[in-house]
Amino acid sequence: RGTALAAALCVLASAPLAHPALAAPGKPGDPRHSAGAAGIGDPYFPAQGNGGFDVKHYDVAFSYDPATKRMDATTTITATATQDLDRFNLDFRGPKITDLNVDRHRASFRRDGQELVVTPRLKLKNRKSFTVVVKYAGTPPVITDPDGSIEGWVPTDDGAFVPGEPQGTPAWIPSNDHPTDKATFTFHATVPEGVTAVGNGQLLSQKTRKGRTTFVWDSTEPMATYLATVTIGKFKVATSKTPGGIPVYTAVDPALATQSAAVVARIPDIIGYFTSLFGPYPFASAGAIVDRAPNVGYALESQTKPIFSSAPSLSTMAHEIAHQWYGDSVSPKRWSDIWLNEGFATYAQWLWTEHNGGATAQQTFDSSDNYGRDAAAPFWQTVTADPGTADLFGDVPYNRGAMTLHALRGKIGDTAFFKLVKDWAAKHKYGNVSTADFIHQASSVSGKNLKTFFDVWLYRKGKPTTW
Ligand code: ZN
Repeated sequence: RGTALAAALCVLASAPLAHPALAAPGKPGDPRHSAGAAGIGDPYFPAQGNGGFDVKHYDVAFSYDPATKRMDATTTITATATQDLDRFNLDFRGPKITDLNVDRHRASFRRDGQELVVTPRLKLKNRKSFTVVVKYAGTPPVITDPDGSIEGWVPTDDGAFVPGEPQGTPAWIPSNDHPTDKATFTFHATVPEGVTAVGNGQLLSQKTRKGRTTFVWDSTEPMATYLATVTIGKFKVATSKTPGGIPVYTAVDPALATQSAAVVARIPDIIGYFTSLFGPYPFASAGAIVDRAPNVGYALESQTKPIFSSAPSLSTMAHEIAHQWYGDSVSPKRWSDIWLNEGFATYAQWLWTEHNGGATAQQTFDSSDNYGRDAAAPFWQTVTADPGTADLFGDVPYNRGAMTLHALRGKIGDTAFFKLVKDWAAKHKYGNVSTADFIHQASSVSGKNLKTFFDVWLYRKGKPTTW
């Protein structure tokens, strides 16, 4: 009984938040088919994602001219219905749509803010696969986040810098934009000759014809939409391999080449070290894109190709590489769980620093930038496991998140802790996780009751003093 009630409450709590303007029921007279929900039910970004289908693959083919900032694109989405649908939504903030087909029939659609509402000619049956082809052209937008930073499609002097976390990907790809709907991606990017387009995954081909080059990139493991990028510019390209034989492709803005050379050269070492701690590198390829996008000012762990908007420090490089395990392969179920990305990547950064002969993780934990802060500091007044949208990428999920892991390591011991982080990456490879999943796994690996521990570190305000 108790369980049934809890389950019922759970369903209520996770029901997609209806958008009054979009939540009209299915057509009268057809009780079976109904409209897919306009959002996936994430309280931080209620309009993100959609109900009623699951995307398997995105094929994104476009040309882009840095001089005019014009994109001409065709995105083909292969999805499976998870209910009988007479209408469904995609997330899209991109330029004008010129054509939209579902299963080869022209579909009717309307745009409502970031929602693209599609009514296919034929209704879609639950569990059946369907194909959506969207053609669009114009300049994709820059998107401003709740923390004031920008993402989406950010034009640079010679191309575009393309970060998508937490809500930038619909600037250029009509998508089911939530970390819980991972899919494979293929990109076909055509740019003027001399310009390089770098996407996630492996370069399948690069062909120049009549002054334009088409790059085909294949992202063969499931990827959350926010990790998609095709970043474009004049780059110096280099390739190498990790100690385990993973191919590494790096693209660096020539203006930053000297400054970033030493850090970029360490990518194989960093991957080698993290492989020894966290288990096998989760993807078929690795790399980095170093570009000049001063108005962005942050780096992002885009899958297999982290992007840096300026020359990275070694420690930032380590952070973005660690995200390939924690964030990219193992992704959050809800944005409020962001510390599972940022706390892990930050802690990995501390471990790398120690391994590389710098401060020990204990010293970093103790420092005045971390545990050493005054108990009255505003830092201690944000809840790690629920920081709010304006502080998603703030101090707390990063540093208090990393401190949580270091404190946990002290509490359960090195053997249990390193087994836990490795098992976590293995068990949830290409999946999605919540804070509750982590607490459960930590308790079971260590055999300890960690309720109070996680309460003070993750769920309560205030500086933890005993744990
Ligand atoms: Zn990060």
